[in-house]
Amino acid sequence: QHMTTAQIRQQFLDFFASKQHQVVPSSSLIPGNDATLLFNNAGMVQFKDVFLGAESRPYTRATSSQRCVRAGGKHNDLENVGYTARHHTFFEMLGNFSFGDYFKQDAIKFAWEFLTEVVSLPKEKLLVTIYHDDEEAFEYWSKDIGLSEDRIIRIATSDNFWSMGDTGPCGPCSEIFYDHGEHIWGGPPGSPEEDGDRFIEIWNLVFMQYNRQSDGTMLPLPKQSVDTGMGLERIAAILQGVHSNYEIDLFQGLIAAAASVTNAQDMGDKSLRVVADHIRSCAFLISDGVMPSNEGRGYVLRRIIRRAVRHGNKLGAQGSFFYKLVAALIEQMGQAYPELAKQQEIIEKVLRIEEEQFGKTLERGLAILEESLSELKGDIIPGDLVFKLYDTYGFPADLTADVARERQMTIDHQGFEECMAVQRKTAQQAGKFGADYNDQLKSDKHTDFKGYDSTHYSATVVEIFAD
Ligand code: ATP
Ligand code: MG
Ligand code: MG
Ligand code: MG
Repeated sequence: QHMTTAQIRQQFLDFFASKQHQVVPSSSLIPGNDATLLFNNAGMVQFKDVFLGAESRPYTRATSSQRCVRAGGKHNDLENVGYTARHHTFFEMLGNFSFGDYFKQDAIKFAWEFLTEVVSLPKEKLLVTIYHDDEEAFEYWSKDIGLSEDRIIRIATSDNFWSMGDTGPCGPCSEIFYDHGEHIWGGPPGSPEEDGDRFIEIWNLVFMQYNRQSDGTMLPLPKQSVDTGMGLERIAAILQGVHSNYEIDLFQGLIAAAASVTNAQDMGDKSLRVVADHIRSCAFLISDGVMPSNEGRGYVLRRIIRRAVRHGNKLGAQGSFFYKLVAALIEQMGQAYPELAKQQEIIEKVLRIEEEQFGKTLERGLAILEESLSELKGDIIPGDLVFKLYDTYGFPADLTADVARERQMTIDHQGFEECMAVQRKTAQQAGKFGADYNDQLKSDKHTDFKGYDSTHYSATVVEIFAD
């Protein structure tokens, strides 16, 4: 009998609680302490000021299961979804943290104890990386843990050296990988095939050791600290004896629900994985207060929703389907995140309205794209076509790129950006962007598209909250 994802989450927190760590709830996907960050993308984010010494807490050890979104900004895994076995736009990062308490040696011991004793992973399937000159980490892995030298891989790239910014806390990392077996394509970290899914990174241990000055010198931090992150879905896959994150209990539930609301025939269709992934990021983003819009966080949300709608459509969905998955998500994750159930109605409404708006233009846009592709020579979709789809049919450029990729094509990003720049300039010159732009769209006889400016959308949102 395999452990469920929920049980694994609990077991991790219990283990670190037994090592005197304070169990801290996940913080919001909208970082409260960092305006430069698009979304919370790691467990350490809510502790940033503690690491910097600017905030003090009544504990020096903490553990959490942090909800994360990596769909924009520095970490963007949107394009990986549906293609790799290990990436989501939304995932949970299990972590343990030391604020000037224990350092490398204990961080390594704790991680190894959890993996090999608590959840009993076979040692021979594990290998680790260290930063190339981190002799301390090498000693701990080889002497304390007893790993043979060929299982400790030295990496000299930034993959194994973490920094908070250009200056400030930084230090070497040590990552733990699991070998899913020869039958899967891929090579060990540092090899040319490392991007395959045979050796999957499960846990990153970050040792905050130095304070980088603006002239580049690295002074030892007065309080050396530890930040770790392990993907819950990745460890769940291993413990449930499957290769892909999408095969774990939680995702099987979501995929079954996605198949039923879209009338999908082939359970292995990559679009099902995309839809199952996207309902998590969209529902949690809305639950944390993000609303679809034309800029910033809201535009990332809108892009993810539209991608999901396109994939659902491809699977055979008739009419709006995406909002119907909120119930299935609550079934899978409602216990760990009670706020989801509390906000079910709002989340469903926001998704449904967004879907309906886009649904009106999706088919027409796809038809235009199809028609243009049949006449296209070469394998690059021209920037002006990408722009037209964006401007008239509400296709975010990444959605067009997603369609393109399925046909081994790419889009002309630069050409698209140039069209965008021209539009921005014209709008500035017109001086009254909103009104003119919308009138023009509304009078376009080929479409009943109402425009996507934020005034129109916020009016809709106000309606939602009114009833
Ligand atoms: P990868 O190299 O596989 O993209 P990463 O090095 O970008 O992972 P980290 O930033 O080190 O990941 O994050 C810590 C851990 O969080 C990873 O070891 C992994 O288990 C998990 N993780 C990272 N990104 C994702 C994702 N998009 N989906 C699911 N889990 C993830
Ligand atoms: Mg990554
Ligand atoms: Mg990595
Ligand atoms: Mg990593």
